[in-house]
Amino acid sequence: MGLINWVVTQLSRQWKGRRQPIVRLFLRRLIGAITHRYNPRYSTCGRCNRPWNIAQKHDTSYHQSITGRDAGCFPLCEQCWGELTIERRIPYYESLWQLWLESPPMNETWEDILIAVEGGG
Ligand SMILES: [Zn+2]
Repeated sequence: MGLINWVVTQLSRQWKGRRQPIVRLFLRRLIGAITHRYNPRYSTCGRCNRPWNIAQKHDTSYHQSITGRDAGCFPLCEQCWGELTIERRIPYYESLWQLWLESPPMNETWEDILIAVEGGG
């Protein structure tokens, strides 16, 4: 696992400074596919599939209109989140929302999350 991370870090450094987001996403998906096999208990980034013990979550804070409390969700890692426009982030939040719908009751509505995402959170 350490070796794989080292190789990916070295390769990523080679690409730094150049705008090669497709290559970087490919590398993250590669490491996601490999590492998720060995970390099946961790959930993953919805885009690159890297598990959360390797990838850094992008936490989106939102206000739960049902409870009046603040909460957060993280369908994307920081890197994938940063590479996407707001419009292109929404489907990943929708996927997470669909997953949540399978285990109600929930303390938030889809609109609560959408407001946060559209606000750049
Ligand atoms: Zn990702």
